[in-house]
Amino acid sequence: MAALVDDADREMADVPNSMKGHRACLRCGLVKCFDQFYAEGCENCPFLELAERQDRVQSCTTSNFEGMVAMMKPDDSWVARWEGISRNLPGVYAMRLEGEMPPQIMQFLRDKRISCRATAPGEGGSQIPPQG
Ligand SMILES: [Zn+2]
Repeated sequence: MAALVDDADREMADVPNSMKGHRACLRCGLVKCFDQFYAEGCENCPFLELAERQDRVQSCTTSNFEGMVAMMKPDDSWVARWEGISRNLPGVYAMRLEGEMPPQIMQFLRDKRISCRATAPGEGGSQIPPQG
């Protein structure tokens, strides 16, 4: 994997280290294994405080997602622009995800004006929020 990255010393998010137990962060769509979220949290979303909190990992990530894209250069990737994730670290991202962020976290994100790929309960399907 690392050989594909020409600027290899650049910081990047963990990539999944096994083919099962994948979960996607509901905020940014980063795909990792449950254990990786539990060990390190989400590199893009430190404010979610996922590390070492099993309940948080459970509620802020989802196993219900479709497709994965490996994004190595967020700044000039059309995939990244399309996904609205160009400000995230290079890593593996879900193309589509289903899930509901806990309402109190959704509220926190709104207060901080942080975009979120998942919706709060009752707000309908997953959609990419406008960046701004
Ligand atoms: Zn995230």
